[in-house]
Amino acid sequence: MKLKAIFFDMDGVLFNSMPYHAEAWHQVMKKYGMNLSREEAYMHEGRTGAGTINIVSMRDRGHEATPAEIEEIYAEKSRLFNLNPPALPMPGAWELLQQVKDAGLMRVIVTGSGQLSLLDRLNHHFPSMFTRERMVTAFDVKYGKPNPEPYLMALLKAGVSADEAIVIENAPLGVRAAKAAGLYTIAVNTGPLPENALLDEGADRLYPSMMALAEGWREWSEERRMKNEE
Ligand code: CA
Repeated sequence: MKLKAIFFDMDGVLFNSMPYHAEAWHQVMKKYGMNLSREEAYMHEGRTGAGTINIVSMRDRGHEATPAEIEEIYAEKSRLFNLNPPALPMPGAWELLQQVKDAGLMRVIVTGSGQLSLLDRLNHHFPSMFTRERMVTAFDVKYGKPNPEPYLMALLKAGVSADEAIVIENAPLGVRAAKAAGLYTIAVNTGPLPENALLDEGADRLYPSMMALAEGWREWSEERRMKNEE
């Protein structure tokens, strides 16, 4: 099938924001008497805040957090995250987006983030690349990754079938969600996890960085075209 759309995860793919998220998670859990290492925070990347808090609470305290606790912990995590300067675009992201746009491919954002200023930030750093109609955010979904829901919704919003789109993800749970939605998935290992954390979830290809993907894009596209003509 002809490729029509690229679904972009945001944190850790388009923006180098994951170090801030991992640090904020580590600090907030410590503050509430629980332990979540920075590396483990990367393993939970993509989950909803409540999902992450409950998994750690079950492990460290033997029970889930109350809704009030979840709200308080997540608010504090967001406060700590926001103490950082705005995250910068991931090197290579703009170079990749330009090639994708020049090839006439649709760009869709699929993120668990629920920041209201999201589109403004995207437009500021990546002008003319994204529109509100082609974004799936925390406001659009109930379950979030690793549930396939966000990617199934992206297929609906883009109006394409699963074999007409591919996903670019950096997180193991993001890869799991994309594969569960039946999508070809390129993993970019922009964090500290071993490659197997992404490959074991079924990533179809792996690049060590967004820059490596941008530089390898032409070759990948050509390979895909050849395979489709076989
Ligand atoms: Ca991500």
